Amino acid sequence: RGGQTEREVPFAKPGSLTRVYAVASGKGGVGKSSVTVNLAAAMAADGLKVGVVDADIYGHSVPRMLGADGRPTQVENMIMPPSAHGVKVISIGMFTPGNAPVVWRGPMLHRALQQFLADVYWGDLDVLLLDLPPGTGDIAISVAQLVPNAEILVVTTPQQAAAEVAERAGSIAVQTHQKIVGVVENMSGLPCPHCGEMVDVFGTGGGQTVADGLTRTTGANVPVLGAIPIDVRLREGGDEGRPVVLSDPDSPAGAALRSIAGKL
Ligand code: ADP
Repeated sequence: RGGQTEREVPFAKPGSLTRVYAVASGKGGVGKSSVTVNLAAAMAADGLKVGVVDADIYGHSVPRMLGADGRPTQVENMIMPPSAHGVKVISIGMFTPGNAPVVWRGPMLHRALQQFLADVYWGDLDVLLLDLPPGTGDIAISVAQLVPNAEILVVTTPQQAAAEVAERAGSIAVQTHQKIVGVVENMSGLPCPHCGEMVDVFGTGGGQTVADGLTRTTGANVPVLGAIPIDVRLREGGDEGRPVVLSDPDSPAGAALRSIAGKL
């Protein structure tokens, strides 16, 4: 829509009833996208109207994890998002041919996010989840500008080194005056398949460390919303496009994710 004035972001309008959560992490590979799609699927299964923006521009993986293989279509001058498991989803990956890498720069990313938020026909959503790229990048700033009321959900592993970077990513909320809704600790131990004893593969305490640190820096209480164990079924669910909260809701990871979804 070159040359035209930008549409307003409906979620940023005063009185918008959509809760917006930006899912952030300090670094990649901690399970941010897995958490995002499972929370979205769990909330949709509970009857909420849910949308996901895959804003992890360089590592977009949300559509595959959700099993959303449809393409966006254009109606009038709006983009109709595909959906899967009752979740509407839009991703930068839907607009790049094949598996082409994205080599965009800041202003283009901002523009893409603006379009995802304002030019996609979301309808009346109860919840919109944004899967952010890892770290404190351009996109986090763009989210803060485009949807200042978005609350930040920080995902970390129990590892103390990971907690430090996660805390840094979360503390951007101080500058942008955003609320941090809480911390999710992922990969919190591996239950031994033989004896059930927990193996703390990535150590312990990272989630609490991040929550305590962010409580100090923001001056507001930042809770740990839950801890998700390492679970083969969670990884398989992502690979197969059927989130574990649906395929195996009572598995340890499925139950933990559903409990976290219930707190949002
Ligand atoms: P990020 O979005 O932070 O880069 P992903 O959600 O893509 O991380 O997760 C990275 C990999 O780890 C994926 O293959 C995913 O299936 C796997 N994974 C994430 N969380 C868990 C978990 N709790 N148990 C088992 N595998 C997990």
